[in-house]
Amino acid sequence: MSSPSMPRRVALVSVHTSPLAQPGTGDAGGMNVYVWQTATRMAQRGIEVEIFTRATSSSDAPVVTAAPGITVRNVVAGPFEGLDKRDLPAQLCAFTAGVLRAEAMHKPGYYDLIHSHYWLSGQVGWLARDRWGVPLVHTAHTLAAVKNASLAKGDTAEPMLRVIGEQQVVDEADRMVVNTDTEATELVSMYNADPDRIDVVNPGADLDVYSPGSRELARAELGLRADETILTFVGRIQPLKAPDVLLAAAAPIIERARRSGRPVRVLIVGGPSGSGLDRPTALMDLAGELGIGAEVTFLPPQPSAQLAQIYRASDLVAVPSYSESFGLVAVEAQACGTPVVAADVGGLSVAVAHGRSGLLVDGHDVEDWTAAIEGLLVTPDRLAGMRLNARPHAEQFSWEQTADDLLASYSAAMHSFAARNPGSIGAASARRAARRLRRIRPKV
Ligand code: UDP
Repeated sequence: MSSPSMPRRVALVSVHTSPLAQPGTGDAGGMNVYVWQTATRMAQRGIEVEIFTRATSSSDAPVVTAAPGITVRNVVAGPFEGLDKRDLPAQLCAFTAGVLRAEAMHKPGYYDLIHSHYWLSGQVGWLARDRWGVPLVHTAHTLAAVKNASLAKGDTAEPMLRVIGEQQVVDEADRMVVNTDTEATELVSMYNADPDRIDVVNPGADLDVYSPGSRELARAELGLRADETILTFVGRIQPLKAPDVLLAAAAPIIERARRSGRPVRVLIVGGPSGSGLDRPTALMDLAGELGIGAEVTFLPPQPSAQLAQIYRASDLVAVPSYSESFGLVAVEAQACGTPVVAADVGGLSVAVAHGRSGLLVDGHDVEDWTAAIEGLLVTPDRLAGMRLNARPHAEQFSWEQTADDLLASYSAAMHSFAARNPGSIGAASARRAARRLRRIRPKV
């Protein structure tokens, strides 16, 4: 990578979900957390961040100063409420017009770089990049081809429209940011991406909010019993995330625990999302059918401080997803000192250290999941060892590091863009950034 140069101002595009929304339900999840956390860290490094997102309420102000150095622009594109994510492609023209109009209020060269999140935003970023003459960095967050290759039973495949749209963005972006080496390989093999334009940047966790603490105090605060074993799922409730696998795996454990008098409880934290919206009570119905309705507690999406208490209160956190480009929940739980049992898919094999901070389970066979979870519960020494290892493993993943790595990717994008487009605004930005860097570099 060439010598670093910092952009002055970046435009982050997040069409389908606002970083200000509460994650854990609907379209709000890890991407919201990612955009917000990296924006915050970049603003702390003196970079102005403007986030373009679609207005989803008539009460959304067009421009919000969300934090020092961070502006959120709520672009009107389509009806505020009730617009299905599947209908968003039809609103991309209106959204892009809103983005271009916002930039046109300023002198040319207002933004040094665009970073788009998810393919819908990549389509917007592609056009804005051509119009503004600045580089486009893109993060897919999830890839339709990867998701379609390992669908949950009965889940609907992502449409060809998305695969084509993703392919266009992969072809157009100046750099692609992926979460792990696995995702880089997928991008190359499934989308024929140029490996030289891919940067692997691990996401992080807020290691101050997600930190170890007293399990007893956390349980007392949450109104949970001290004597129960608690198995927890956190995330958007949809077939892809497989919370049903946890319930089915926990059912025989709960049955045996009833007989032994050492109660086991499952906590499900989050709200319906994606194809899970078609049957929002499906998971509760399943708990009833499995005969464990009394031992399953459902909690609505929680803010991060409360979520940290839930992780601390838990004996194990399960992440049984069918596909997961990283899995922030896994890292957050470990940052709180809680071991994780996760499916051995996508980024989860990076997020969880198999055999040290948790376990990776091959496939979604319920008996395998029961054996993995119960195997840990009946070997308390092993579980205690994993509790000790969880935090150090999670400490490898911080948003500070993510922001530093993103800035290195931005720098590479600015240099290569300037080299390919010498007369462009982007080339002038890169020269300005290099001059600024020379000024702030200590003289040796
Ligand atoms: N989350 C939250 N409150 C909840 C449930 C989830 O804040 O009640 C957050 C969680 O902390 C994590 C994100 O939502 O940061 C989910 O990210 P993950 O990568 O696990 O899954 P994704 O939503 O990206 O599929």
